Amino acid sequence: MDFNKRAPESLCWLNGEIMPTAQARIPVLDHGLLYGDGVFEGIRFYQGRAFRLQEHLHRLSDSAAAIGLPLPLDQAALEAAVADLIEAFVVPDGYLRLVVTRGEGSMGLDPSSCKRGNVFIIAAQMELVDPDKRRRGIRVILAATRRLPVDGLDPRIKSLNYLNHILARMEASNAGAQEAILLNARGHVCEGSADNVFIVRNGTLLTPSVSDGALDGITRRQIISLARQEGIPCEEKTLAPYDLYTADECFLTGTGAELIPVREVDSRPLKQCPGAVFNQLQRVFLLLVRMESTDA
Ligand code: PMP
Repeated sequence: MDFNKRAPESLCWLNGEIMPTAQARIPVLDHGLLYGDGVFEGIRFYQGRAFRLQEHLHRLSDSAAAIGLPLPLDQAALEAAVADLIEAFVVPDGYLRLVVTRGEGSMGLDPSSCKRGNVFIIAAQMELVDPDKRRRGIRVILAATRRLPVDGLDPRIKSLNYLNHILARMEASNAGAQEAILLNARGHVCEGSADNVFIVRNGTLLTPSVSDGALDGITRRQIISLARQEGIPCEEKTLAPYDLYTADECFLTGTGAELIPVREVDSRPLKQCPGAVFNQLQRVFLLLVRMESTDA
């Protein structure tokens, strides 16, 4: 993710203290750093309010439970930390990265030496893609690097282990594309490196299911529910590369990404970009964001 260089200084809440992010320190023996042993959430805030915070904290708590990591703070304490940090950041709109690591331990994979996880939350302004590209649609590639198998690391766990997503993203950059779509071991479409993928075919919205290897994205859930509300047929479906190449429309969703239309997949231009379904969903998504950030 590219943090906007002109943005105000990013702030970090680290184990109860707020400081400039550049001053925040984690011990080198933290297993989050040594092994990617930890969990995280990316959360947007609009008008000084964290968007869908409960859903994010719920997913964080499930991710932590799934890897046997006791959260050092309860839900209320995490909510208070988020509120304090947003208040200190002053700028009303931005992005939070909430990370819980396994904590400091001895060298070696066994987490039993880690007595308490470290919790930090970074507040920053983030421009994931250039606004012009966002308007015109981005180019994506299907990466040779596959998503980890469901029985290797369950995609519902939002862990700190993103190495194969990073490798996929490097493939995209090398090909002059802005994002990579990862396939599962069977060659079916999972998701982008940090976002979920949707296509439109004959007016129906289609997205891979979580069991095909997609993260149960919070933005994905919202888009599915908004589509139903708008009377747009929507199905979870196993998708092959062919389905992406021949789709009427394709777009990505995520907390950082929000909604981004896709213009080209592996150099094949899509029929519409941005398409009619994308435009409709984008409009109602922005309305939802505005409503939820102002109905105090
Ligand atoms: N897939 C992956 C691998 C991600 O990292 C993200 C971003 N957290 C998403 C999908 C989108 O999920 P969400 O809408 O909850 O941000």
